[in-house]
Amino acid sequence: MTLTRLLTTAAVTALVSGAAFAEGTIGIAMPTQSSARWISDGNSMVEQFKAAGYETILQYAEDDIPNQLAQIENMITNDVDVLVIAAIDGTTLSNALENAHFADIRVIAYDRLIRDSAYVDYYATFDNFKVGVQQATSLVDGLSERFGDGPYNVELFGGSPDDNNAYFFYNGAMSVLDPLIADGTVNIVSGQMGMETVGTLRWDGAVAQARMDNLLSAHYTDDTIHGVLSPYDGLSIGIISSLKGVGYGSGDQEMPIVSGQDAELRSIKSMLAGEQYSTVFKDTRELARVTVGMVDALLAGGEPEINDTTTYDNGVKVIPSYLLEPVSVDMSNWKDVIIGSGYYTMDEIQ
Ligand code: BGC
Repeated sequence: MTLTRLLTTAAVTALVSGAAFAEGTIGIAMPTQSSARWISDGNSMVEQFKAAGYETILQYAEDDIPNQLAQIENMITNDVDVLVIAAIDGTTLSNALENAHFADIRVIAYDRLIRDSAYVDYYATFDNFKVGVQQATSLVDGLSERFGDGPYNVELFGGSPDDNNAYFFYNGAMSVLDPLIADGTVNIVSGQMGMETVGTLRWDGAVAQARMDNLLSAHYTDDTIHGVLSPYDGLSIGIISSLKGVGYGSGDQEMPIVSGQDAELRSIKSMLAGEQYSTVFKDTRELARVTVGMVDALLAGGEPEINDTTTYDNGVKVIPSYLLEPVSVDMSNWKDVIIGSGYYTMDEIQ
């Protein structure tokens, strides 16, 4: 029997594509299937790890912290070679990672930093500060396009306070908005600012919708709102429902500018319907590619490629990271970016 006939299809694919044949099992712990991006992340990783010759165990924890911990402990018991983890709460994994360390399992933090542990080897993510800069820049562009010179009435939403990324998004956005608040161009009518006030636990769209309802009834019965900083498409959809509920987007009540993130299908459709103004595209296929590359290098005893050694201090050490570039998306470029890259087909959008 020839060598090729002994190999699995995955290994053949790996050989044909020029990748080295690799062995090992990779445990992939993802936070939730309630958001499409994590489903794409999981699928892309399984596909790419298999093509490189690895076995995979992929599990979703539906935003339940004990569930994710149990899944990770199971992967450790099953003797995976590497753990790839997108944490629900980045501060609750210290014990699990200590167990991984004693079982000689390497750990890659995927998209979200894992905090308070020495046993995180690498971090694969996007430039999260830049995501926030892009969200606020797009918000400001939209405000001047739709409402002229201002001043503008704006409200702020943050991501989940247990997700390190949420602070990077917020701080990036505020680096753009702070000077405009200081010079009076942007008015935060409710006065609600700071992650401890505007954070949205578990990135829950219903929580954002309820907070927007409250903001509108407490502060906008006489005033008009012009814009909302939203850090994630799932929140944007909740915020837009709330705005529509009091008449924005119909008659002479212009829809406020609402930002987002992840280029989720619902949000692309919302943009095309003239509701959500923008989103930030983060190509999860690329993040999977970087992660597979890191695993390959680690298991071959080499050094993964990184491009940042200063930004992500997890409270114990600075985690060597690879940061991908996010892309701001609005009506002017969605077709090129989203369809052009093959992330969605035209059929999915329509
Ligand atoms: C991710 C974002 C996502 C958010 C909610 C963050 O950690 O970086 O892409 O929108 O979680 O799932």
